Formats: sequence, C-alpha cells, structure tokens
Amino acid sequence: MATSGLRGSFPLTSDGISNNVTRTSAGAYALGHTKDQSYYIHYVGRADADVARRLRDHIGKYKRFKYEYYDSPKAAFMKECRLYHDFNPRDNTIHPARPAGSGWKCPVCKVFD
Ligand SMILES: [Zn+2]
Repeated sequence: MATSGLRGSFPLTSDGISNNVTRTSAGAYALGHTKDQSYYIHYVGRADADVARRLRDHIGKYKRFKYEYYDSPKAAFMKECRLYHDFNPRDNTIHPARPAGSGWKCPVCKVFD
C-alpha cells in the first residue's frame, strides 16, 4: 500500500489541531481513521494559506488527520493530487480543483489538459 508521506496521525479535535499544527502555512491533509495499526484515508484536501483553519472545518466528520506543510499553494495542490490518485479516497467524489486562472496541471493525470 502507498504511504502518504504526511505527519501524524493526530486526533481531529480542536486540541489535536492546536497541539500539532502550529504554523500558519499552506498544506495538504488526509482525513480518516486508524484500525489495526493502519491509517485509512477517506478524504484528502489542501489549504492555500492556513491548513490548521481548514482542518477545523472538518472536526466531527472524521476521527483523525494527517498533514504536511508546503511552501506554496501550488506545492500543496500537487500533493493533494498525488494523495487523491494514490489512495482514491471514498469521500472525494471529484478530482481536486485548481484555482481559476492558475493553469496548474495534475502531476498524475490529464484532467486539466
Ligand atoms: Zn489527476
């Protein structure tokens, strides 16, 4: 099975986010739960500016999260796409979107070509 390369997992709670996501930064994340020492990813996303704030929007919907900081929104988008294709999360019903006018392309597929 592919590894996500993300930090965690951590509890998807207010404290779990505050204690583990301390920088205000772009980032990518994977939400899910742990079972039998494996982490199951159900949803992946990204934040262009503040990954901690974005994670708080998901409290109550999933049990745990993994994440990583990225230096730019584009780098976070690239990671989000790779996670989407590597794990095919059940709750991501459509391909990750790119900002309008960005011209970014998925590093894996040709959806934006
Ligand atoms: Zn793609």
